[in-house]
Amino acid sequence: MEDTVVSTAPHTGETRGPTAGGPTLPQRRELRTEVPGPRSRELLERKRMHVADGVGNALPVFVVAAGGGVLVDVDGNSLIDLGSGIAVTSVGNAAPAVVRRVQEQVAAFTHTCFMVTPYEGYVEVCEALAELTPGDHAKKSALFNSGAEAVENAVKVARVATGRYGVAVVDHAYHGRTNLTMAMTAKNMPYKHGFGPFAGEIYRAPMSYPLRDGLDGAQAAARTIDVLEKQAGADNLACLVIEPVLGEGGFVVPAPGYLPALAAWCRENGVLLVADEIQSGFCRTGDWFACHDEGVVPDLVTTAKGMAGGLPLAAVTGRAELMDAVHAGGLGGTYGGNPVACAAALGAIEEMRTHDLAGRAREIGALMERRLTAIAAEHPVVAQVRGRGAMMAVELCTPGSTGPQGPAPDAARTAAIAARCHAAGVVVLTCGTWGNVMRFLPSLAIGDDLLEEAFDVVAEAFAATA
Ligand SMILES: *Cc1c(COP(=O)(O)O)cnc(C)c1O
Repeated sequence: MEDTVVSTAPHTGETRGPTAGGPTLPQRRELRTEVPGPRSRELLERKRMHVADGVGNALPVFVVAAGGGVLVDVDGNSLIDLGSGIAVTSVGNAAPAVVRRVQEQVAAFTHTCFMVTPYEGYVEVCEALAELTPGDHAKKSALFNSGAEAVENAVKVARVATGRYGVAVVDHAYHGRTNLTMAMTAKNMPYKHGFGPFAGEIYRAPMSYPLRDGLDGAQAAARTIDVLEKQAGADNLACLVIEPVLGEGGFVVPAPGYLPALAAWCRENGVLLVADEIQSGFCRTGDWFACHDEGVVPDLVTTAKGMAGGLPLAAVTGRAELMDAVHAGGLGGTYGGNPVACAAALGAIEEMRTHDLAGRAREIGALMERRLTAIAAEHPVVAQVRGRGAMMAVELCTPGSTGPQGPAPDAARTAAIAARCHAAGVVVLTCGTWGNVMRFLPSLAIGDDLLEEAFDVVAEAFAATA
């Protein structure tokens, strides 16, 4: 493959951020074969035989080790990871405090089911959530296995607590792949296509999307509220579920004032505000939660992804009186709040606190914004650089074009750039309703040198596809 770069890394081993996840792994980009290499291709063949085709891969290299900001594959290639397994390994892969606590826990016991015989780790995670999530009111939490499950349970709580059934969501939203959360997710392909019929009583309103609607926060909120009042009726709505910074929908940051205006409307109308912080939470945006940016205090918060350093754990945290509205036994599940996953979360939170990873996310964000702004200045295909903290993106559109919803998305160029980055050993992810957004969400344990090198590769990929 023409893009193969063999051992271009000018720095070897010493490039570390404030934490060194996967402690012994050299922090460098080094390609020994084409990407994917021969052993990965063999494994991919086995995958094709026995894994359902519906389960895809962004980049089919098979990983044997990961740490800090790199992934090492079966062919010995060391790739720079700007995806963090979709915003999960924020503290770095195999972060020391996560590994230590998981090893201790897994050797002590692996499962009892918290609903049968409880254990302390679950309670400790809920204590941490009460402290860290927005607002200083009394809070309680319940733990689950996946983000979608947390969103489903937030809706269950909101319905019982309000006695209403309607659920409001916005355009471009992503809330998961279960039946209820597919209904709440906006995009058809690939998340919903052919999987209906979906759960009812979901009402979708426009979202603030500054690049495409040109509205300020107050105007965009007025438009959202108008649709909800006319098409659902505020009195029928149990909750409004919204990502404070959109994840899969394209890292869209709503115009300033948008979320506070929605929060005020929710409060006035007895509609619970549910912040889906599954992607934006736990230091990703440069604060513990994205809601902190404008001082928005949601009634319920859903968390998952970055919370547990790679182990499956999710939570609903909310006002104590709302969470307690549900009858005994109404919330739970066999594995929810598994002790090993709780230990991992406590380790991840320890890493975030000890190394001020929210501060580190702001530094990483500043570096990425500088590099992406420079790329945008040279390549008019970049319609916007946006994001917050270590959650940055560029949206690619045909320069000077006007489509039915603003500038015409350029998904082909986006895919070509991502493919070039992958071939050169940098893992990048795309997203957005039109598939024309490149998103960058490195581990917060990545070092500056490695990050600069990754963006050298991204800049080369823009130039090579021009
Ligand atoms: C990933 C994600 C979900 C779903 O989480 P899963 O763990 O994949 O079920 C829900 N909401 C948001 C904002 C997400 O980014």
